[in-house]
Order: sequence, then C-alpha cells, then structure tokens
Amino acid sequence: MNRMIYLDNAATTRITDEVLACMLPFLKDSYGNPSSIYDLGANNKDALSEARKKIAGVLSCEPQNIFFTSGGTESDNWALIGTAESRAHQGKHLITSKIEHHAVIHTCQYLEKRGFEITYLDVDEQGFVKKETLMNALRPDTVMVSIMTANNEIGTIQPIAELGELLKNHPAYFHTDAVQAFGQIPIKPEEWHIDMLSASSHKFHGPKGAGFLYVRDGIRLPSFLHGGKQERGQRAGTENVAAIVGMGKAAEIAAQTMGVRDERERALRDYMISRIEKEIPYCHLNGPRRNRLANNVNISFSFVEGETLVVLLDMEGICCSGGSACTSGQVAVSHVLKAIHLEPETARGALRFTLNEETTKADIDYTIDRLKEVLDESRRMNSSYRSFIGINQRHS
Ligand SMILES: *Cc1c(COP(=O)(O)O)cnc(C)c1O
Repeated sequence: MNRMIYLDNAATTRITDEVLACMLPFLKDSYGNPSSIYDLGANNKDALSEARKKIAGVLSCEPQNIFFTSGGTESDNWALIGTAESRAHQGKHLITSKIEHHAVIHTCQYLEKRGFEITYLDVDEQGFVKKETLMNALRPDTVMVSIMTANNEIGTIQPIAELGELLKNHPAYFHTDAVQAFGQIPIKPEEWHIDMLSASSHKFHGPKGAGFLYVRDGIRLPSFLHGGKQERGQRAGTENVAAIVGMGKAAEIAAQTMGVRDERERALRDYMISRIEKEIPYCHLNGPRRNRLANNVNISFSFVEGETLVVLLDMEGICCSGGSACTSGQVAVSHVLKAIHLEPETARGALRFTLNEETTKADIDYTIDRLKEVLDESRRMNSSYRSFIGINQRHS
C-alpha cells in the first residue's frame, strides 16, 4: 500500500501550496537584495515589511516588535543569551522549566558553563508549571524566566497569562518558546505580559529556516549576529526573503483558520485517544486531557519500545514519533517524560502522533488498526510481556 499518513506535525509540517506559490517569485525573478535601493531590491524590502505586518497582526503587536531569525532555535538562543549577557550586571539567575525544548535547555546549560545560575522548575504529572513553583524560585537577581507556551512532546499548554501576571511586577524578562503554540492557539503577548516570544515557520506550514522573535517595546537585545544593518541593526545578514514571505503568508492563513482547525483536530484527537484506550490494553496517556494542544496524542504502551513501533509503523506508511523527534536515534529517555515522573519503561514505550487539519477519521482508523497489529507482534516477542500474561515461553 502506497498510502502515506503524516502524523508528525510537531516535528515539522507540510508547506501549504498557497505559501509555496507566494515564495517562488523571490526564488526566481525577484532576487534583489532588500538593502539595495533600486526597484529590484526595494520590492524585496516591501515584501519583508508585508510579512512583518502579517505576523504582527496575528500577535496584535506592532511590526517593529518582530525580528526575523533563522527559526525557533535561533530565537530561543538570542532571547536567552542576549538577555543573560546584557543584564549580567543586574543578576545572573535565570529560571526555566524541566520540559523545555533542547533549544532552551541546552542554551541554559551553555549559560551555566559561563557562570550563570539556572533554576529548572519542576512540573506536575501533566507537565504544568505551577504558579507557586515559579513564585518560590524567583529571586531579586533573576533576570529572565523562560517557560514554553506549549510542549512539543506531550502537548501541555502552560497558563502563560497567569505566569505573566505573576511576573508583571518583577524585573525579570518573561520569554516564552511558542514554537508549538503559534498558529495553534491565540497568543496575546501584551495582555499576558510576555516580553519575548519565539516562533518557527516550519511548525505552522511555512518553509524551514525562518522564524521570528517578538520583543516588546522598551527592550533592546544586543545583536546576536554582527554585520550589516538588517533588522534595525539587531540581526545582521541578508534576509531569507522567500522563506520570510512564506512565513508571513503561513501565519496569516494559520490565524484565519485557527478556530476551524482547532475544533476538527480536537475531535479527532479525542477520538484517537478514546479508541486506543478502549481497544489497546496496558497503555497510558502522557500529558493532560484538558489544556492540551488540539493535535497532540502521546501514549505509552507497556512492554514495547516506542522506537520499534515507529519503525514498524513507517513500513505501513505511517509517520509518527517516539517521544520527541529531537531525541529519536538516541536511546536516552526523553527529559520531558522523565520530568512528569514516568517510569523509564513506560517512557520508552511512548508514541507521539501529531495531527493536522488534513488528517481524516479514516487516517486515524487505519493508524490504530496498524498500531494494534504491530503492537501485538512486538509485545509477543517481549519476554516480560509473555511472563506477564502467563504464556510459557516453551510453548511459543
Ligand atoms: C521545533 C521546535 C524548536 C526549534 O525550532 P527550529 O525552527 O526547528 O529551530 C524550538 N522549540 C520548540 C518547542 C519546538 O517544537
């Protein structure tokens, strides 16, 4: 069967045809440098302002608050390192959570090596950062708090507005990695007291290699890349015009379709979870049932390795992920599943399916049917499963 079912939209998304179409002119005839003053360049400059306006529109902020970057990773690095270095004279303490993306966690580890102190907040069993936990960790020398808007593995949507309210009167900057959330849920940086926010185009049906950092008025981060005067002197380098144009279009479409998509995906997500829970024994939903990304299903299956299921499902034309895409290939248990206190065996049996608006009920049914087959097969080969259900190995 040549069917391909793509259920790994947290890893990346398919570029929308409409998005690709509006990028093509900038990869072909309209190749000018946005910094040049003749028409061929100026057209590109206009295209950048249009994209900036579209993204600002989605966040109800001003275009000047949006800085284009190469993606979520760069935005996170810039926000954290830029803040730490420029505010080191005021304090060298930063707070983040134990379930952040590696773009944040590894950047924090880099800062630790350079003399900064990081507090990694515990989360509860659903992955939520509790207001009290943050409150207790805050210190007068805390210069930044970075908590992701939604988690890429288990879909937990943090109470960002509440956390922002708590931080409103503290001098620490509040950064949120909204890479999984942007285009999926409404985000209001100003109302929620967010100082900086990261997003990435390829997570909302735009091209790879483009992203942005929202920075509120009144904060001037030190430049992360040094060179020309691009991005108002804050981020040097000739802009990735085609990708940025595509990102602007993708952001606009995401905002327009958010309500419909949310409802559709949520219904399918819940259908998938309930079918699995009803029909497959020894499984466990990871992450919350409420305040969960509408497209995220993460379930652990006992007596199997998630990675094995990923490979077997791939042979059936189904793309999904074991734990997090960034940890696949490594045997290490995901830091997120560890932080929500899953037993290592349960964590290793985790599978993540992330849907999109094109996913159908037929896709989900097909996936669950194949899942049941491959799961049966792998469990039967597992000796602890066999002794658990009482099949004597000598008879098999
Ligand atoms: C994908 C992802 C990133 C990294 O974004 P890139 O654009 O791929 O560098 C950062 N944070 C989260 C939560 C992500 O899901």
